[in-house]
Parts: sequence; structure tokens; C-alpha cells
Amino acid sequence: MGEEAETFAFQAEINQLLSLIINTFYSNKEIFLRELISNASDALDKIRYESLTDRSKLDSQPELFIRIVPDKVNKTLSVIDSGVGMTKSDLVNNLGTIARSGTKEFMEALQAGADVSMIGQFGVGFYSAYLVAEKVVVTTKHNDDEQYVWESQAGGSFTVRRDTEGEPLGRGTKITIFLKEDQLEYLEERRLKDLVKRHSEFISYPIYLLVEKTIDKEIDEDDEDDDTNKDEEGKVEEIKEEKKKKKVKEVKHEWELINKQKPIWLRKPEEVTKEEYTSFYKSLTNDWEDPLAYKHFSVEGQLEFKSILFVPKRAPFDLFDTRKKPSNIRLYVRRVFITDNCEELMPEYLTFVKGVVDSDDLPLNISREMLQQNKILKVIRKNLVKKCLELFSEISDNREDYNKFYEAFSKNLKLGIHEDSQNRAKLSDLLRYYSTKSGDEMTSLKDYVTRMKEGQKHIYYITGESRKAVENSPLLERIKRKGYEVLFMVDPIDEYAVTQLKEYDGKKLVSITKEGLELEDTEEEKKRKEQRKQELEPLCKAIKEILGDKVEKVVVSDRIVDSPCCLVTGEYGWSANMERIMKAQAMRDNSMSLYMSSKKTMEINPEHGIILELKRRFETDKNDKTVKDLVMLLYDTALLSSGFSLDDPNTFAGRIHRMLKLGLNIDEEEGTGEEEEMPGLEESSGAEESKMEEVD
Ligand code: ADP
Repeated sequence: MGEEAETFAFQAEINQLLSLIINTFYSNKEIFLRELISNASDALDKIRYESLTDRSKLDSQPELFIRIVPDKVNKTLSVIDSGVGMTKSDLVNNLGTIARSGTKEFMEALQAGADVSMIGQFGVGFYSAYLVAEKVVVTTKHNDDEQYVWESQAGGSFTVRRDTEGEPLGRGTKITIFLKEDQLEYLEERRLKDLVKRHSEFISYPIYLLVEKTIDKEIDEDDEDDDTNKDEEGKVEEIKEEKKKKKVKEVKHEWELINKQKPIWLRKPEEVTKEEYTSFYKSLTNDWEDPLAYKHFSVEGQLEFKSILFVPKRAPFDLFDTRKKPSNIRLYVRRVFITDNCEELMPEYLTFVKGVVDSDDLPLNISREMLQQNKILKVIRKNLVKKCLELFSEISDNREDYNKFYEAFSKNLKLGIHEDSQNRAKLSDLLRYYSTKSGDEMTSLKDYVTRMKEGQKHIYYITGESRKAVENSPLLERIKRKGYEVLFMVDPIDEYAVTQLKEYDGKKLVSITKEGLELEDTEEEKKRKEQRKQELEPLCKAIKEILGDKVEKVVVSDRIVDSPCCLVTGEYGWSANMERIMKAQAMRDNSMSLYMSSKKTMEINPEHGIILELKRRFETDKNDKTVKDLVMLLYDTALLSSGFSLDDPNTFAGRIHRMLKLGLNIDEEEGTGEEEEMPGLEESSGAEESKMEEVD
């Protein structure tokens, strides 16, 4: 049988994936056809793109098509394309020995209950053939190589051999599925037509189905029976009548075009239904859910293009994976597909937006290098960003939709604030935060401003690890009492975004965890403050001496009411939250953290009982031993309540235990006699048990 076949083992993860596909029960098997057609379409895109610069690449097969061939006799279904094809090494690598990054992720998603129809999103769609196949045979011909055949019944291995006997493809790929006995429905014409209509309608190449036509054929009497007519002249007429009616059934095979091909983006928006947009979106993205929102528009004037943009309902599994392709926009030039990974079309923070752009102005034979510096592309990009922001703003009209959107993509918006200075103001309108006054619905900055108190100049915010952690921060006390609202910024990326944002609607964004927070005071308040400051000056000095390098300075606070003290950071250094984030980053630069962190200021509450008691003790005996212990303890607890982490948790725990013993009136000596106390403890728990028995 032709040349000898080489056997290859499937890469381990692919093998696992195959077992999962074959052995797990999925009712939604039909998606395999969509995946194979989508691969065929990709392969056609590739050869068409290559042919733009070198027309001769099409010589091996000038027509671009997809053909579907059901074969009821052999129980096989074939999908044939005249795409780019695969060389032998492509075959070995792409279909079995090199796993995509999505292989593992897809299996994890499946095990977590995801639907098998998500397969295309993970870049392993080919293997879905095994949902219905006992065996798959791939015949392929690339311009640069001979025709090869790949074959596998899964089970750990596949073979590849040169195809010396099969029908030559010219160029392209034929995937033949040997259907499992219970999957023969995929040979039915109606089923196949219906599937293509549902899942692959917007493929921009003709899809032909080989259909069986039974035609009634009239048989010419002369051919049938030569003698009868001549012998009995009188009966000729009658017999002719009869013979005209005599028809023979004949089965013919012919190609039937089964997809509409006019690109949806060329149609007028008012003529396209929501269902059509949805099914176009699905075919474009492999998403199994409807899009959250879309926008169909054309730009005219010095430059012309048409576009449809979609926002998905959720973030993809690899949203911030740097290896994934840099854009989700398919670029066409006068209806010819050019590329789907053109970085210049969208800024990084908008890569979650999917869609198509069809330009009238770009040259057809544009190369990737030319795309990089192309002026037209820059204008297109600017327009796309503008339209995206309009679209997001439209989503925000519906609270429920916007919550969904925000949950999935708020990080992208914040990244945008950080990166896109031109659109920063518009993006800031899209931000939402919980706050001291927001209740269960997040608030926009715009709404915050409408609630600002008379005399309030700034927008206040606090950053931290979680809403819970910041909600009860001592730093909020005084500002809350003044009636000012404070925004909770609890996403790590908030720290980066807010340093770029700086202000909203002419109002400065002020962190309440940093020093220099000034709340507007009355004259009387100011006077009293000044007086207290002087009174507490010696204590501040003493505390600074005890704490040494741990703090930069110790000052009388203006922001706390209920807590004895708090720690704040310099206006331009890292906040407590930023320090936490940076500590968590493995590859951070240590010199940076020395410089940016550790500039902490301790603020003490001049009205607090503990501080007043400290002051009293310090004034009666400057060497009071307990003062030092208390100050250290205050510092450590302030670290925690202000959102920092402890440098030395053990010493802290030791101090707390000593305090506990004091509180429980246990002497140091008694504390060591633990063993003697144990029997007593057991006795009492025994008593407890018997009591419980009585109750029972
Ligand atoms: P992908 O999401 O990349 O299509 P698949 O598992 O479906 O993942 O296919 C793996 C690779 O095999 C493709 O990236 C492509 O290189 C190759 N391939 C699959 N089908 C075809 C085809 N019909 N023509 C050419 N190459 C194909």
C-alpha cells in the first residue's frame, strides 16, 4: 500500500484530551462540523493571503472552496478545502505532537463543567472530530511538499505516510471521518444543511454539499424497444402515449451551495436582525453565548471603512496572556481577508473586543511590515477606540448588563486609564466603585460628585486588599464623621490607574492612606489642634525614639477618631496596599522597594484614652518599661489596621500573649505550670460531658 507509514505517539496532554473527548458523554457532538469548517476557512484565508503577493500560489488549485461529502456506503463524512494544506512536518506537529497552550486549559474547563462546544476557543478544535469518529483520515497537499495522509483511531498514536495512490488534491486538505455506528445522522442531507446554516453561515468561502438528486428520466422508446413499433403500426400512437409516461428514476450527485456569502457588515444595519448579528458573532468567535452588545457602523469621508464590534459576555480564559494574539479584529480589504492579528488595530486594553473591519483604502497586497507604519490604519484604530467607548457607554444604560460587563472587563478599563492618556477622561466615566455611601451598587465618579458635601474639594479614596479590609479602616473615621464619601479601590490595578488619573471633573483624587490629608477646619478647630500638637510634641518624640527607623516621623493626627493611632505613607511613595502588591510580586526589584516603601508616618489620636494614658505615664516616669512595650504593640497593630503586613509576626504574637496573661491575671510563674493544670482541665471537660448526657 504505497509508502511505508511512520507511527507517532500523541503528545501526553493531547492524548488525555482525546480520551476525554471519546469517553465522556457530551450530547452536543454536532459542533465538530463547525470546527472542521472553521479550520478549512482559516486554511483558505492563509492561501488567499499568500496569493496577494504571489498569484502563482493558486496555480495548484485556482478555486477556493469548502466541500462536504457524505458517503452512506462507506459511512464516512469528508470535509475538503482548497486551502493552504499542510506539509509533512505541519501534519506531525499540528495534529498530534505539539500541544497548544489551550489543551490543558480546555480539559480543566471541561472538568469544571464547561461545554464541549467551547473547544474552538482553546485552539484544539480539530480533535472534536473524535466526538463522532471511530477513525479520522487527513489527506493534505501543501504547495511546498508532496501529498500526505495522516490517520488515527486515537488510542495513543497516529501514522503519517506519503500518499502515492489517493486522488490528488492539487492543494488543500481532506478530512475524512469514519463515523461511529450511532452517529450516522451526520450523513443526512437535511441535518448537514441545518448544521451549516446554524453554525457556519458566515464563512466567507462557498460551502458545497454533495447532494443526491433523484430525477425522473423519460426513456426514449427507440432506445428501449426497437421492434415493437414497427410491427404493429396501429398501436404506435397508444404505445407512445404510454411510453411518454414511463419514467425511470435516476440518482445523480451534484454540488449544492449551502451558505449565503454576502458579508453581513456590507449590509445596512437596519436590514440585519439581532439573530443575524448573534450568529455572525458566534461564527466569528466560536463563542457559545450571545454577545453582550454590538455596534455596526461605517466611517465615511477622507477614509472609508465598515465595521462591526462585539463585546462578549465574559472574559476569555487567556485575557491577559501575553502569548495570545494581539487583536481580535479581523481585517479585510475590500472584502478580502487580510489578517486577524494586527496589533495596530486596537490598543492592548481593548483586545477583548471582537469584530471585523473592512477598509476601502488599504492596498490589497499590504504586508505585515507595512501595516505597522500605515497612517490609514492609525486613523482606523482611533475610530475603533472611539466606537468601543461609545459602545461601553451604551451598555452602561442598562445596570444589569453593565454589572456583567464591569465584572469581566473592569481591569481592561483601568489598564486603559493607565495607558491611554487621550481617552482617560472618557474611560474614567466608565469606572465604578463601592464606597462608604454606595450600598450594594457601585457608584460612578459622576454620581460621587453629585453627592459631594458643601465645602468638599476633593474626591477621597482608600486602597486596600478587599472591601471588607478597607471598610473598617481607622483611616476612614474622621472623614466619615465629616460626611465625606470615600471610594473603595480594592483591585490591585486601581493603584496604577489612580496615579495616572489624578483628577476627575476638575477634582483631585486624594488617597486617605497617605500623609498630607487635610480636611477643612473651622478656626476654633484649628486653634485646638495647634494646642494639642504642642502638648503632645514630647510624646511624639519619645515614640519616634522607641520606634527608630520603623517610622519616618510621628505626628498628631487629623483623620482618626476611634483608634489610638494609624500609619500613613508619603504622598508620592507606595501606599500600604501597593507595598503589599509589590511584596507579592516575585521578580520585583529590591532597590525600588527600599526607596518607595518604608516611609511611614505614625499618626496618633490626641483624644484617645490609650494615647492620653501613655502621655501620663511618660510624663511621670520617662523610663517606664511598659511604655516601650505599649508603643511597639501600638505600632504593630497600626500596621495591620492600616493595611500593611507585619515584619515579625512572632514577636507581635509574644507581646499579645503577654497582654492576654495580664488581662487574665496569670503570673509569669503560674504560666509555666501547664502540666499540673491539665488534669484539672480534663476533669472539667469530663464533667461537661456527663452533663450533656443528662440532658440527652
Ligand atoms: P486551531 O484552533 O489552531 O485551528 P486545531 O486543533 O483545530 O486548532 O488545528 C490545529 C492546527 O492544524 C491548525 O492551527 C492548523 O495549522 C492545522 N489545520 C487544521 N485543519 C487544517 C486544514 N483544514 N488545513 C490546513 N491546516 C489545518
